[in-house]
Amino acid sequence: VKTAGKGTYRYFEPALYQRRLAKLRREAELRHAIGHEQLVLHYQPRVNAATGEMTSMEALVRWLHPVHGLLSPGEFIPLAEENGSIVALGGQVIEMACARLALWKKQGLAVVPVSVNVSACQICTGDVSRLLAAALQRHGLDAGLIEVEITESATMGEGSTALAALADIQALGIDLYVDDFGTGYSCLAELKRLRMDGLKIDRAFTSRLLNGPDDRALFTAIVSIARTFGMRIVAEGVETAEQLQALQHYACDEVQGYYISRPLPAEQAGALLGRKSLF
Ligand code: C2E
Ligand code: CA
Ligand code: CA
Ligand code: CA
Repeated sequence: VKTAGKGTYRYFEPALYQRRLAKLRREAELRHAIGHEQLVLHYQPRVNAATGEMTSMEALVRWLHPVHGLLSPGEFIPLAEENGSIVALGGQVIEMACARLALWKKQGLAVVPVSVNVSACQICTGDVSRLLAAALQRHGLDAGLIEVEITESATMGEGSTALAALADIQALGIDLYVDDFGTGYSCLAELKRLRMDGLKIDRAFTSRLLNGPDDRALFTAIVSIARTFGMRIVAEGVETAEQLQALQHYACDEVQGYYISRPLPAEQAGALLGRKSLF
């Protein structure tokens, strides 16, 4: 590297700078992607824990990158949240989910609600309920066909904007689910106050369920609290028959996970609509 000669400049150029450049490029690409149909939604079924009947599908965004192929949200959502483009991205997700529902209806399929993930930064714009209402109306959909998932951190914010925004969404008739429950700083009193419609128990709990009595006790406690507040209970990340059996035993309402179905491209997901059971 020392022989770089005139490149001494390059020699001192910190790797950090390179990374910043790469990040700036990625940011610009992401902004472009949002306006140019490079974002796609995959849909993962959620089913009744007892019967296997599909109760809803979760919309999970992917970025069809022209060079790098299909990128998972972990590779770009954090960046989008950091630079604020999550607001535009989230708006597009809502639009795409509604458009897909309308198409499925037009095709005569027995649609189930689609659940969209909304990040804390989006909630704080206070604009999400308006976006949802507009998209539902534009596509002629009932509010019951959309559900919203938000992480605990988004619900626990002291900001009255967030609380008001959540209330506005519920006022439309859209059910709210707490996502990844158990991974954040759960404030159970807050859950009660917000009157969330359901809890999605993080897959970390699902995977530990078969470990031993302590983990089972924790799970039972979560379920009983949610019950007390009248919330629906969904277990995420079900990967094995044993886990499913245990969850049925603990009276979860609904389950979701690779064991039932992976997230699927829209056409494949649509083909599951109307099935009696996914078990
Ligand atoms: P999430 O909302 O908790 O979604 C569940 C994630 O777990 C998905 O990953 C899904 O593919 C994966 N998963 C489902 N079942 C299983 C299982 O049985 N085992 C394992 N190991 N994983 C399972 P994905 O699609 O990579 O999404 C990751 C995260 O990105 C999501 O976590 C969500 O927080 C975020 N995300 C996805 N789409 C959106 C979006 O449209 N907007 C926002 N704000 N965030 C999104
Ligand atoms: Ca989710
Ligand atoms: Ca409802
Ligand atoms: Ca989750």
